[in-house]
Amino acid sequence: MNLTFLGANHEVTGSRTLIECGGLYGLVDYGMEQGKNFYENAPLPVPPNQIGFVLLTHAHIDHSGWLPLLFKQGFQGSIITTDATADLCGIMLKDAAHIQMQDAEWQNKKGQRAGSAPIEPLYDLDDVEGVLKLFVPCAYGKIIDAAPGVRVRFTDIGHLLGSAALEVWLKEGDTEKKMVFSGDVGNKNQPLIRDPEPIDSADYLLIESTYGDKLHDGGEVDRAAILAACIQKTLDRGGNVVIPAFAVGRTQELLYFIREAKERGLFHGHDYFPVYVDSPLANEATTIFQNCDPSYLDDEARAILARHVNPLMFDGLLTATTSDDSKAINVDNQPKVIISASGMCDAGRIRHHLKYNLWRPESLVLFVGYQADGTLGRLLLDGADSVKILGEKVAVKAEIINMPGVSGHADRDGLLDWLGKFQQKPGYVFVNHGEDAECGALVQSIHEMFGLEDDSPFSGSVYDLITGQYTYKAQGVPVAPKEPVPEQQPITQAQRAPETPHAAPEPHQAAPDSPYWRMLYSADALLKTLHTLGGAPSKELARIQREIEALTREVKR
Ligand SMILES: [Zn+2]
Repeated sequence: MNLTFLGANHEVTGSRTLIECGGLYGLVDYGMEQGKNFYENAPLPVPPNQIGFVLLTHAHIDHSGWLPLLFKQGFQGSIITTDATADLCGIMLKDAAHIQMQDAEWQNKKGQRAGSAPIEPLYDLDDVEGVLKLFVPCAYGKIIDAAPGVRVRFTDIGHLLGSAALEVWLKEGDTEKKMVFSGDVGNKNQPLIRDPEPIDSADYLLIESTYGDKLHDGGEVDRAAILAACIQKTLDRGGNVVIPAFAVGRTQELLYFIREAKERGLFHGHDYFPVYVDSPLANEATTIFQNCDPSYLDDEARAILARHVNPLMFDGLLTATTSDDSKAINVDNQPKVIISASGMCDAGRIRHHLKYNLWRPESLVLFVGYQADGTLGRLLLDGADSVKILGEKVAVKAEIINMPGVSGHADRDGLLDWLGKFQQKPGYVFVNHGEDAECGALVQSIHEMFGLEDDSPFSGSVYDLITGQYTYKAQGVPVAPKEPVPEQQPITQAQRAPETPHAAPEPHQAAPDSPYWRMLYSADALLKTLHTLGGAPSKELARIQREIEALTREVKR
């Protein structure tokens, strides 16, 4: 009964963990790496067609984005997740496939001129259609048989609509262990979704650490009032409010607050000012939020629904679907609010709106989420005088504001608070989904506060849940720096900053029966054999060790 850590180890995207129980294999999340990449990930050590099931914590691409690739490579098992996550994956994976296909098309145009062979997209819409058929949606709170000897329960973790922590019971012979996967732990008091629910017990816990050493500023602020004040003053001076926002989750929060501010009478003198949502993905996500089972929503949202009011709808709300709709937004001079993606301004239609508004002192660019280093959003927040957008230099004269207290992730205290609610504390805690400083700090805090044994394994490490020991402890392999991407070129999906405040090695696309896979099986078989040699004579063990070291040196050469 093993756990193999495959991704989001000492970094915050590409969540992937392999479970091995009674000869069966299953994955918890199979995400894409996005944005900053610090360490190489270990490849999946078994062929995709031998993976029996995937348990999916939530729909963000850094947790779900490689599922179509898994399908393309032969996976035919079940993907068990909540109904809302399955619905969101339906639109987010299609969006990801479009981006992959556009990236490949652009690379091929460039490659054709250079005489290189065409490349395939990582996956396409057919792969997404195929993988979506494997989804098995379920409700929160029910114990489900995922595979023989594997049971799972999804608990609301308050990070995104449908997001869950997983309780997984693994049984091998007479031995049963309970493993809890936190997924991404949500921030308290977010609109629409509930706060993270507690879990009462675990033998082992894998917990995220995105903000493992940080506390969110802002505290309990009245975000509807702050947003209304920003909009009011900009409309008063005749400018536009441009809000770069993640399409799924953050955009719906903004609509919720604008509706609330209107109901509370916080706007004066601008009846029915237009609010454009310029992102097809955001508009599809809004529809899913509006149609989801009310049990996925928090008490406040359900109270609004009970008054027969749609919490995401108000007079003046307009949607742009086509690129012509998008371009038309900047044609008239009426002051307006424009919500568009991407949230960190490094791709998508938001760049077009920034080009039209950054040079106007009467306009406002309002940031409502984390801006990673190296993104256009970060440059603007850091006070750049001018920026290059779509090949043009644009002066920055607009007001730039960062809204406090907005995060989909629990901060350090939120993570510790959630762990503190376990009645029976885990015997061992693994910390992932945080950069070196963050995961290291959380490892230390968990040990100091609860006296628990814990660590943050690197990708490739294997832990035996029955013996409670690592059978292989990997070292972190730093990723070699890549060539910077010139501003004019489209950036690939892996280079793009993620839709969540997280920071790829090239995917291993080798076929399951390739020499590459066969080599990995042989290495795996060798490791298993070595584990049986505990009582062998020291001289013999030393000889084997020398031979392994010689082989390692040869492979490195
Ligand atoms: Zn997430």
